[in-house]
Amino acid sequence: FAARLEVPAATVVKKLFELGIMAAISQVIDFDTASLVGEDLGFKIEKEIIVTEEDLLFNDTEDSPESLKPRSPVVVVMGHVDHGKTSLLDAIRSTNVIANEAGGITQHIGAYRVRVNDKKITFLDTPGHEAFTAMRARGAQVTDIAILVVAADDGIMPQTVEAINHAKAAGVTIIVAINKIDKEGANPDKIMQELTEYELIPEAWGGDTICVPISAKYKQNIDGLLEMVLLVAEMKELKANPDRKAKGTVIESQLDKGRGPVATVLVQNGTLRVGDIIVAGTAVGRVRAMVDDRGASVKKAGPSVPVEVVGLNEVPVGGDIFYAVTDEKKARSVVEKRKQKIKDENTVSRQAVSLDALFDQIKEGEVKDLNIIVKADVQGSVEAVKQSLEKLSNDEVRVKCIHGGVGGITESDVMLASASNAIIVGFNVRPDSGAAASAKRDEVDIRLYRVIYNAIEEIEAAMKGMLAPQF
Ligand code: GDP
Repeated sequence: FAARLEVPAATVVKKLFELGIMAAISQVIDFDTASLVGEDLGFKIEKEIIVTEEDLLFNDTEDSPESLKPRSPVVVVMGHVDHGKTSLLDAIRSTNVIANEAGGITQHIGAYRVRVNDKKITFLDTPGHEAFTAMRARGAQVTDIAILVVAADDGIMPQTVEAINHAKAAGVTIIVAINKIDKEGANPDKIMQELTEYELIPEAWGGDTICVPISAKYKQNIDGLLEMVLLVAEMKELKANPDRKAKGTVIESQLDKGRGPVATVLVQNGTLRVGDIIVAGTAVGRVRAMVDDRGASVKKAGPSVPVEVVGLNEVPVGGDIFYAVTDEKKARSVVEKRKQKIKDENTVSRQAVSLDALFDQIKEGEVKDLNIIVKADVQGSVEAVKQSLEKLSNDEVRVKCIHGGVGGITESDVMLASASNAIIVGFNVRPDSGAAASAKRDEVDIRLYRVIYNAIEEIEAAMKGMLAPQF
């Protein structure tokens, strides 16, 4: 910084000292500190903003508060296998779907909308946290609320815990649907008790987690659940600006024999119109036609609306972010560059989620949390490893265990790690073949230990190495 200002380094260090920062000459300082010091020394400090061709094309500027209008919530259903996710999605669709009004046949396009009272809710049709986190690993943040389905006759199971942690890592609000209350042996109180162990304290007990007893099979209290979704959505004050070019995420895609590449997109901001030029990943094209979730052909789709789009030149990938743009020529050029970049990246290694890479980012002040996923052979070890590692937190870096569980390392763990910039610590367990392959592909760091002490020692040593020099 001193070199940039062309002043002696000692002058900058002295100014920092006056501000109460005991800095070494090699220390990295952030922009705010730099501008304080610089302006004190009579310089005008500005952030250097690098505008790329993509930035110019996508023009993804922030919306003014006046331009924002309420939008409906986007909801995903998660939970353990056989707890009733699919039944719930079916029950909601059959009782509330807007298709009934048009008398049309519902189309499975990957998402659907329902009307409750005079409001709407968008549901993603693929249940489970894997699909959710896979999209997140690609940078897509599409959901506002997760409905966690727990069977009242079974209780919290391993995938329930996974779902809780995946939702939490994404910062999504969880509403619990206690399902199968029609069954003998159903015990909602026991479920609520178990939830408290995962920091989900039911509202009825003074916490802020909404729990709704339902029966997906017999369609009991589905409306009650949906009303709670709307209540939570209202508290979140979800908004978007419908009066701009659309931006959103690809939910599903396929190559259709007759129509060519078909993609279901969820519009998240702006309004998408037939005739718009869109870029999604490495696909580009002009929207020829749009079909909504009731099979009706539509001319436009606003925020939180899912539509099937025809007109792209290739099939995009679920989780790809799409933008509607005005300049077709530039859109094609951006896509060409993206393709070239992917080719280059296949030869040069990508940015990895490794311990070393994370430490570098922490050192640069880019990361304050060291996210860890702990898998072990027994629950006792999960807890022990988790607690010992979290205790390593210091003023500069917080070691945060975002997920812990018993059993081998799975693909879903790797996806969560990749989406949350985390490393995986395995204790007396191994990755399964799928996990090993995807960890290799996504360059997720998996560290395996047999002795807890070794795990602590290694992470501690690395953390010490990354701390900024101090006096
Ligand atoms: P998923 O694996 O979570 O998608 O679970 P499914 O929706 O496929 O449901 C698993 C099984 O539980 C099916 O046989 C459903 O009929 C049954 N089931 C789902 N919801 C209920 C319910 O509310 N009550 C009862 N008794 N059975 C249910």
